Amino acid sequence: MPVLRILALSEDGSDHAHAVVVALSKSMLKIVDPAVQTQREKLRFDEERGDGRRAMRMNLWRSTKEEHESDIRKLMRAIVSQLLIEDDDGRPSGFVFLHYDGDESYGDRDRSDARRHFAEFRLKIEQQIKAERNVGGEELARIMSGLVAIEPFYCIEAWTYQHTEIAKRICARGCGKHLGAFDDWAQDRRLLDEIRKPWEDSCLRKAHNVELTGPGYPAEAVWEAGKSFYEAVDRMTGCPALLDALRRTYMQAGSPPALSPRKHVE
Ligand SMILES: [Zn+2]
Repeated sequence: MPVLRILALSEDGSDHAHAVVVALSKSMLKIVDPAVQTQREKLRFDEERGDGRRAMRMNLWRSTKEEHESDIRKLMRAIVSQLLIEDDDGRPSGFVFLHYDGDESYGDRDRSDARRHFAEFRLKIEQQIKAERNVGGEELARIMSGLVAIEPFYCIEAWTYQHTEIAKRICARGCGKHLGAFDDWAQDRRLLDEIRKPWEDSCLRKAHNVELTGPGYPAEAVWEAGKSFYEAVDRMTGCPALLDALRRTYMQAGSPPALSPRKHVE
């Protein structure tokens, strides 16, 4: 059994959505703990294939309609089960990364309906765990910190387009009109978070996200921009059980503790 298992969920219904969220998540985990081992036998990314997937794909998890309740319950069941996974020694080893687009510019993030809906959804999950496990206080907070929002502003392309080297290569293949824009974004990586619907004016659309999250993805630079990518890394860092599990991917029992997680320096 792997040391840790992460259920990666995405509101994006496309076939490559899971792979894109996994690739971005791995690059974030390497910032959280640079020594992490991400081979499948150490770290496994699970994919929801059952009925719960429908509730993610069509954004039903944000719905309050009665007809969607059954699908939402199945999704919640999958999330709760994952958060309660423990290894043979009783250590927490199941986590959930849930991707939804912020649908606002980063500057307007407090107005994001998606963020508000996630907070409500999170509360429902918390209530379910509280009822099922009869836990509260610190223990409940500990379990809930394993549910990490992967929340780009405005959308996932605010992160994928950051691989400007590949983006320029794709643009140059047939279009060539956006090379300057990609240079600007590479110069100041804080810009992309403030653009609403960045795919609308780009030849890349939403078609190249797998390629854009491949080798050479500039995760450190995007993180240093201090916006939505940084915040997602920060949420991972705020989960002690995740930090502990990441450490177990490369440490034998009884080894001295690793360095403390990294903090962003302004
Ligand atoms: Zn172009």
